[in-house]
Amino acid sequence: MHTYATPYNIVRNLQPELPTYCFRPERVTAAARWFVEKFPAQSFYAVKVNPALHVLDALWEAGIRSFDAASEKEVQLIRGRFPDARIAFLHPVKPRHAIERAYFNYGVRIYVTDSVAELNKILEATNFAQDLTILVRIAVSNEGSALPLSGKFGASTAEAAEILRLARRHADEVGVSFHVGSQAMKPSAWAQAMADASRVIIEAGVTVDIVDVGGGFPAIYADKTPPEMDDYVAMVMRSFENMFVLENAELWCEPGRALVAESESLLVRVDLAKGREIYVNDGSYGALYDAVHEGWKFPMRAISGDGRKLGRMVEYTVYGPTCDSADMLPGKVWLPAGLTEGDYVEIGNIGAYGRSMSTQFNGFGESEVAEVQDSPWPSLYVSAVGAEVISIGSMATN
Ligand SMILES: *Cc1c(COP(=O)(O)O)cnc(C)c1O
Repeated sequence: MHTYATPYNIVRNLQPELPTYCFRPERVTAAARWFVEKFPAQSFYAVKVNPALHVLDALWEAGIRSFDAASEKEVQLIRGRFPDARIAFLHPVKPRHAIERAYFNYGVRIYVTDSVAELNKILEATNFAQDLTILVRIAVSNEGSALPLSGKFGASTAEAAEILRLARRHADEVGVSFHVGSQAMKPSAWAQAMADASRVIIEAGVTVDIVDVGGGFPAIYADKTPPEMDDYVAMVMRSFENMFVLENAELWCEPGRALVAESESLLVRVDLAKGREIYVNDGSYGALYDAVHEGWKFPMRAISGDGRKLGRMVEYTVYGPTCDSADMLPGKVWLPAGLTEGDYVEIGNIGAYGRSMSTQFNGFGESEVAEVQDSPWPSLYVSAVGAEVISIGSMATN
């Protein structure tokens, strides 16, 4: 991968035709180090959030050794890249053949379930293996999360207690897990979820080896400034002490967004400017899913294609490249006056659920990537950066 000092150099040297991810490896390092050093839990990186090899490699380099895979493809990807990685297959519904191959071909020993039927499937597909770790995913409140995930998965207290008892009979280790919802803005979500998990354990009346507090740890966006990451650890640790588990029970977590959101920004090209309306080459079917469908405001800055000085900030309507009229950023976006074809907009902190959500719709979806060395975007891990971009006001607004 080529390295440039800043995205300005990419624009000057390449005038890239395709949407171009600007990769900042030190942001992955900072986030991963934080989880490894400050969070006394085993961190399983949720691969689906950004499975790009350069991101995975940077995480590994920084000390992440455990991975949460949601599909056989992700299991295969991680085993191929990191033969020594610890892989957990944490989708609550897995095809039987995927479990078989995960266990027998890829050495996966950790599985999740939220039903008796899925537990039986795991036991049968692994031929009643003696070395399984089974996590029981419980339903918890997703209040306070910007993207609730509680609609689909998670067992009720009574169901979870029964699954836990059955799992205890067959598995080498058992645990409880949950997901408080993605981009959880309140640390207290974990206090509530862990109290719920404790109730399940008491009701089941079995010993539990692992408490897995899931994902949901936040990132910083233009319209979302979460509490300090330290507050999340403090809340999890305090809640863990109050749980009804053995002294030596292990604490696990499954961060996705929090580890990689800051790892990449995206340079998009202005293909047409009609006054205060611009058409750029990535959108809702590309990396901007959350920006369009959830209305999230990502920090942005404009970079002129020919080095000319850009004007004062004004409000734009920003359209994506596909023929779907829904392919536009909701509301207005503050960018400098005078943008024209061949200028670029850089969208910051798009490393989580950006490239991984991108589709081929309308023949788009191809992209490039380059490494950059600047640090203009707000961070939860690197202090005193981001001030520049925030202060010039180049962020989306309604
Ligand atoms: C998506 C997912 C995660 C990661 O969630 P974030 O909100 O990105 O931290 C973790 N665990 C499971 C089971 C998931 O599906």
